[in-house]
Order: sequence, then C-alpha cells, then structure tokens
Amino acid sequence: MSLQQVIQKLEDLYPHQPEFIQAVKEVAITIEDIYDNNTNYNTYKIFERLTEPDRIISFRVNWEDDAGNIQVNRGWRVQFSNALGPYKGGLRFHPTVNESVLKFLGFEQIFKNALTGLPMGGAKGGSDFDPKGKSDNEIRRFCYAFIRELYQYIGKDLDVPAGDIGVGGREVSYMFAMYKNLTHEYSGVLTGKGVGFGGSLIRTEATGYGAVYFLENMLAVNNDNLQGKKVLVSGAGNVSLHAAEKAIMLGATVLTVSDSKGTLHDAQGFDQQKIDWLKEQKACHKPLAEYIEKFGGEWLEGQKPWQFKADIALPCATQNEVDATNAQQMVDNSIKYVVEGANMPLTAEAIDVIREHHVHYAPGKAANAGGVAVSGLEMSQNSVRQYRSFEELDEQLKCIMRNIHDDAASAAQQYAKGDEPCVDYMTGANIAGFKRAADALVAYGVLN
Ligand code: NDP
Repeated sequence: MSLQQVIQKLEDLYPHQPEFIQAVKEVAITIEDIYDNNTNYNTYKIFERLTEPDRIISFRVNWEDDAGNIQVNRGWRVQFSNALGPYKGGLRFHPTVNESVLKFLGFEQIFKNALTGLPMGGAKGGSDFDPKGKSDNEIRRFCYAFIRELYQYIGKDLDVPAGDIGVGGREVSYMFAMYKNLTHEYSGVLTGKGVGFGGSLIRTEATGYGAVYFLENMLAVNNDNLQGKKVLVSGAGNVSLHAAEKAIMLGATVLTVSDSKGTLHDAQGFDQQKIDWLKEQKACHKPLAEYIEKFGGEWLEGQKPWQFKADIALPCATQNEVDATNAQQMVDNSIKYVVEGANMPLTAEAIDVIREHHVHYAPGKAANAGGVAVSGLEMSQNSVRQYRSFEELDEQLKCIMRNIHDDAASAAQQYAKGDEPCVDYMTGANIAGFKRAADALVAYGVLN
C-alpha cells in the first residue's frame, strides 16, 4: 500500500480525527522518497503499522467535587508504539482532549522519542477534565481517580507517563502516590515527579530550555547567536516561560507571552524578576493582565503575539495556534526563525507560508524533545536509584539537543530536494525519527 493509500484509508476510517490525520500527512509528505526506496518498509507494511496505535485504553473517571457531587470524565491512554522502548509520553488534562488529539500527540511522540536516541516508545494520554477553577482538593481527587483506572496498564518497563498541558509536578505527584499505594511498589512509573522523591532536576525547565538550545544550534549554522535578538513567545505555561527564561539568559529580549485570554506585550522585554512573577501568577491561575499594574507594558485581550516586529518566534501554547494569516504576519514582521515549543502549533498552511518565505523552521518533534529526553534521564536515574546534578543534566540536555539538531540537519542534507537556502529540519527530523522506529519494526518481523 502506498503512503497515499494509507492516508486515504485513515481518512475513511477516522473522518472525525482531523488533528491525527494532519500529523500523519505531515510525516508522509517528508518520508515518501525513503519509503519508496526501501522495499522492506512496504513488505512489512511499516506505515500502516505506525499509524495504528498498538492499543487505546479508554476509561471512565468518577470523582467527587468539593460540594459532594459525583463528576464523570473520560480518560485515555494511547499506547502507540513500543518498538524502541517502553511507551512514553505525557498526560494532558484539558476540555479539548479527545481521541484525535491524543492520537496525533502519541503518533508524533514515536518520532520525537526516537530522535532523542534514548530507549523510549511513543504514547500519550489524558482526560477531558478541566483543571481550571478546581480546588487543590478536587485536583487531588481527580488525579487519584484517574490513576486508579489507569494503573494496571502502566509500569516502569511498560508505559511511563509524564505531564503535559494541565499536568505539572503537583498532578504527577498525586498520581505517583496513588500508583505507589495500589501496587506497593516505589518505581519510576511516572516522570516529572517532585525533586527529592524520584524526580529529576531540570525536568521542569527541560522542554523550554531544550527548544532554545535547539535554536542556538540553528543560529550557529548561520554564524549567529541569540545576543540582541528580539523574541516573541506564545503561551505562559511550563514550556513558554522556561523558553523565555533561557532566551533571556542567552542575551535575547523577549517581548511577549500569552494565554487563552490574550497577549502580554512588554516593549522593555521581560527580565528574570518578571519571569518569576509570571510563573507565580500562572501557578495560582491568576490573570496575566495584572502584570501591567506592576510592571507596565500592554495587555491585548483576545489577541495573539505575532503582530510585533522581532527576529524569532517561539509558539509554545498549543496545536494549530498559528494559521496561515498568523504565519504571514510573522513574515511581514521580519521573523527569521520559527521554533516550535508546542506540539504542532503551526497548521499545514502556516508551515507552507513559513517555508515559502525561507524562514528557518524547526518542528516540535525535534525542538521540544528536551522534556521527554530529561524524562528518559529521570527513568535511568530511578533505575539505578541515584540522582544527578543540575549541571550534569543540563550538559546532557544540551548534548542531546545538539545531536537531534545534527541528526535532523544531516538527514535533511542527504534527502533534500533542490537548493533550499534553509536547512529542511522538518524533512530531516521526520526521516531520522521514522527510520529508527521503522528499522526496528522490520527487524522484529510481524510482531510489534
Ligand atoms: P501548560 O499547561 O503549562 O501551558 C499551556 C499554555 O498555553 C498556557 O499559557 C495556556 O493558557 C496556553 N494555551 C492553551 N490552550 C490555548 C489556546 N487554545 N490558545 C491560546 N493559549 C492557549 O502546558 P505546557 O507548557 O506543558 O505545554 C504547552 C505545549 O508544549 C503543548 O503543546 C504541549 O503538548 C507541548 N509540550 C510540553 C512538554 C512539557 O514538558 N510540558 C513537552 C513537549 C511538548 P491558559 O492558561 O489560559 O489555558
């Protein structure tokens, strides 16, 4: 079956899963040549196998709110592929979570995890539970109830979940406690745990810092660096604020952050004190708009950050947050680099606009792999029951991000079509990640 036929089959089977189909198409258009040139891939039906999850676990989560009412949510774990190691990928708690979103995230995770070079398969999970406006007690009860359903399907050598949107250190710790309680086992079954009880230093910072390390490598290819660059960041969560923090440390001026309500613009740029204030504010679920009373700047209700002139854009909020119009706005505002901190933040049309205008572009599966890479390092620290220092882990993170950059760049160079002025990281990352998972499946024969 050709890649096009596989896509057609998926479109027929899953017409209500647009995010998943979008993610599959993005990979398919970039691997076509290597796929056609390797008869094993066709013989072993590798693309068909990699686009159907090994299994999807779907379950009901009953929990009790503060008023004593029973609430009911849906939970899922999409175990996509364990060709390269135990299933690994985050849990997302957000009302928009559904099977399409989790399948797209789990599918991307296969290639992202492959790119890290660590032994991890791909998975994703979560719930349509909305943590916004919930008390700490309600969050705790929900996390306990969620893992009470999921615990029998995960394990340190089987499937190791972590955080994502709506799931941070607090939630992972609650889920870890329930798992420990139910199984009488203290193991590295979840990553992103609190430091001091199994969690790894730099895991919290890793995705944002890693994205900026990836960007540094891109700039270095063009004999450039972050010093004096103006940066637009979207989102104000874990990835956004740590990406902003690292960019500032390396001499850039970060002009914006945003959330689902609007954009915060500070023409002076954020400094560490302002970033610390933003972290505190978001941790307490307080409005970003309160920033202007304390530090000045402007709050743009309902607007995105791409209307300002800058050199670099870091979309770090959520999928499809940048459409073709936003991408054109970036081009018009002199953006030269777009690095995805979020998963699939650019629509397919937005990617076309960026690439047509020769903007250097790094896809999330390469640029935001730092988070899962440090999760992999957390797993290995848990296995040997030792902790490593912040500095040692930071060096390892930098090294992994450099390797991902170089692997993607060299695959891009090997398979590039034409004389593109920019390194085609999208093609390079997809090919490098796909080949690792595909070659393992060929070696296994018919079994996964
Ligand atoms: P957080 O929950 O910490 O933050 C998400 C941020 O994005 C919040 O500021 C949120 O605003 C904003 N946001 C969410 N939905 C929208 C929307 N529809 N429009 C505008 N803003 C929105 O999540 P993370 O920082 O952990 O994750 C962000 C992205 O990075 C996701 O795509 C995730 O999959 C990806 N990622 C995360 C990793 C991690 O280690 N955490 C690892 C790799 C990728 P509000 O508070 O108003 O909802």
